[in-house]
Amino acid sequence: MPLPVMVAWIFLGLVGWSSLADGQEAVPPVRELVSRIEAVRIGDDVNHLSGYGTRHSGSKEIIEAGQWIRDRLTALGYEVEFHDFALNGKTCRNVVATRLGKTEPDTFLVLGAHYDSRARNLGDPRAAAPGADDNASGTSGLLELARILSQVETGCSIRLIAFSGEEQGLVGSTSYARKAAAEKHKIRAMLNMDMIGHPTDKNKVEVMVESDRGNRRPENDARSKAYADRMIVAATTFTRLVPKPGPLYGTDYMPFEAEGFACIGVFDGADKAPFYHTDEDAPDVVDFEYAAEVVRMVLATALEIANQP
Ligand SMILES: [Zn+2]
Repeated sequence: MPLPVMVAWIFLGLVGWSSLADGQEAVPPVRELVSRIEAVRIGDDVNHLSGYGTRHSGSKEIIEAGQWIRDRLTALGYEVEFHDFALNGKTCRNVVATRLGKTEPDTFLVLGAHYDSRARNLGDPRAAAPGADDNASGTSGLLELARILSQVETGCSIRLIAFSGEEQGLVGSTSYARKAAAEKHKIRAMLNMDMIGHPTDKNKVEVMVESDRGNRRPENDARSKAYADRMIVAATTFTRLVPKPGPLYGTDYMPFEAEGFACIGVFDGADKAPFYHTDEDAPDVVDFEYAAEVVRMVLATALEIANQP
């Protein structure tokens, strides 16, 4: 390890940013880490993932996509395994990557994004379904977060999960959340990215920051709200984004919420766009610079949650 990297490692390790007494020391390192997020890498990955043609949960292409995600995360130094589950008589795979924390290795911050896609006809595993915004964008964001998080120590462990079976009704995340609850995993928070690449306002700056408002386990609402509030501060501190508070609904955090875990999400708000769930959801609808800003906001939030319970 070259000396500058080692010094950076020591200096950046275990630093949160919003709740230190002096505040001044902590902000620059996080700002430096956030500045390492590269839109061009997110763009390359969105193009790669969309290039499979479809990532329908029942397709043969998604098997290859899952292996590619596994290989990327393995190369970054993560411990990676497939979490298999059954869907319509087939075996599908979540990709689960873990990097242990320094001070609280038994506690996890889960960062999630589904990598499956769909066409207008959900039942057709062969129809074109590039799923660029939904959800190559979130998956590519997950890979870029993985790259930066692999460069620093964190307090608690980081677990990145690329889910399959989302479009069929959150099947992969439900299977994983049940297993996590049954095995009594200590999950501090679950932060999900589903569609982070297509801004819907004319200035291209708005992003939904989603928190839990009731649902199955009202007792986890307060922690969700506290994490969402941190994310809103992260947005205004480290990015040009304008965060809009919204509710959790309809994606992979819901099964985690149902098991009592504190969840938050980010979303571009494009589920009314004409390309949504069609073969038009191609890379040209994704704004890579905007996606990078969302990932910067998520990274700053993740660093704080991982380092300061
Ligand atoms: Zn989605």
